[in-house]
Amino acid sequence: MPTYEYRCEKCGDFEEFQGINDEPLKECPCCGGEVKRIVGRSCNFLLKGPGFYTTEHRNDKYLKRSEIDKQTNEWIDHKRKLLRDDKKTVAAGN
Ligand SMILES: [Zn+2]
Repeated sequence: MPTYEYRCEKCGDFEEFQGINDEPLKECPCCGGEVKRIVGRSCNFLLKGPGFYTTEHRNDKYLKRSEIDKQTNEWIDHKRKLLRDDKKTVAAGN
């Protein structure tokens, strides 16, 4: 489970364990106030694929969750295709 970092205006920064497909938190579990997700070091595992960008965008301009998932899936498909091609090459060599 990845850890996501959030920032509450009242309580400060905190971390939350969430599944990759879970919706981001909108409310602080402590005070119920609005929280903003901090995209950065905790999410580096997501940044290995192409097309990702994060911190220069302010809160209201973050990529929508679905768009991130779509790009991630496309990247995974691309990797799988490469793997398949590798196997084909090996098979042809035999
Ligand atoms: Zn709070």
